[in-house]
Amino acid sequence: MNLLEYEAKAILSSSGILVPYGRVVRDSTVPDVGFPTIVKSQIPIGGRGKAGGVRLVNDTEELRQAIMAIMILDIKGFTPTSVLVEEALDIEREYYLSIVIDRTSSSIELVVHTEGGIEVESNDSEEFYRRRLSGVSVDAIGQELADYLNLPEKAFILIDLIEKLLACFINSDALMIEINPLVLTASGDLVAGDCKMTLDNAARFRHEDWDFEHMSASTNFVTLDEAGTIATIVNGAGLAMATVDAVRGAGLTPANFLDIGGNATTEGVINSFNQLVKYNNLTNIIINIFGGIVRCDTVARAIIEARHAIPTLPPLLIRLSGTNSVEARALLEKEGLVLHDTLESCLTEITR
Ligand code: GDP
Ligand code: MN
Repeated sequence: MNLLEYEAKAILSSSGILVPYGRVVRDSTVPDVGFPTIVKSQIPIGGRGKAGGVRLVNDTEELRQAIMAIMILDIKGFTPTSVLVEEALDIEREYYLSIVIDRTSSSIELVVHTEGGIEVESNDSEEFYRRRLSGVSVDAIGQELADYLNLPEKAFILIDLIEKLLACFINSDALMIEINPLVLTASGDLVAGDCKMTLDNAARFRHEDWDFEHMSASTNFVTLDEAGTIATIVNGAGLAMATVDAVRGAGLTPANFLDIGGNATTEGVINSFNQLVKYNNLTNIIINIFGGIVRCDTVARAIIEARHAIPTLPPLLIRLSGTNSVEARALLEKEGLVLHDTLESCLTEITR
């Protein structure tokens, strides 16, 4: 799950990392702030600076106009539901600093570049400073980094920053934290000017406090054809694609692609049903689950609840196999629902 900038910065700040003071605005209300101020579109992707989604303003009127303009500005298919209004930083230099999981060495890796900011992709990938953080002395790395960035007097600050960021990464179950730019201000502070953070969906169960704007976006749902007649609920992106292909192969029109993911909850699956019944031409919903991590009985309970809660639900064709499928079958048969052994059998029932 990808956080919005203001959400990521709130986590950084609670980990003791410096971020600019800011206010989140959700309508055309103009906050009472000092100037210069920076106005930033809150969308779950980068490249906002180049697309006009980050603006520096110098008075209340400019601020009002910038908020209005950014609220309706489409960037790569995203328009924001919120705008971040922040104190502008007096930028001396912009660096790039991120922490990622390096899967080849199964360790946490620090990646830094002296030239941060909006042109960071143009840097040669050979030039990045990369160090594993697992099982090494952060003191030595902070010292080395101070030399690399040519900030010898900032060694202690960098050690502190890496320690806090690493603790933040681990405690938040992050997969990636990217601070770009990490700003060296005119007064000599190192401040996170922007932050992108990806948290591990699989760790959601141990973070009751997680409440972010794009949580639901972590299931993969795509409308293929508003006028389609067959909706699909599948787990696993590969199986979901194969299911959509099979529907089309049978001469039918799939309305959607949906991968409910491995941590599907009863509530989540019911939400999926609610999304699907918005299509007007549906004749059937195909449920194709191969339970590996996802439990078939969880899905079965959702199916039963959805049938009771949604009177307009079209006929369901269900194929469940794998983890807890015996329990799932028993639950569904008690409801008078018939299970199919294969997807083919589901499709034959529709087309015959
Ligand atoms: P991104 O383009 O989506 O990565 O958005 P950023 O938040 O990284 O902003 C892009 C660029 O805007 C930064 O690299 C800075 O050059 C500039 N910028 C962002 N915040 C400030 C600020 O507070 N003051 C100044 N002067 N420039 C800023
Ligand atoms: Mn950025």
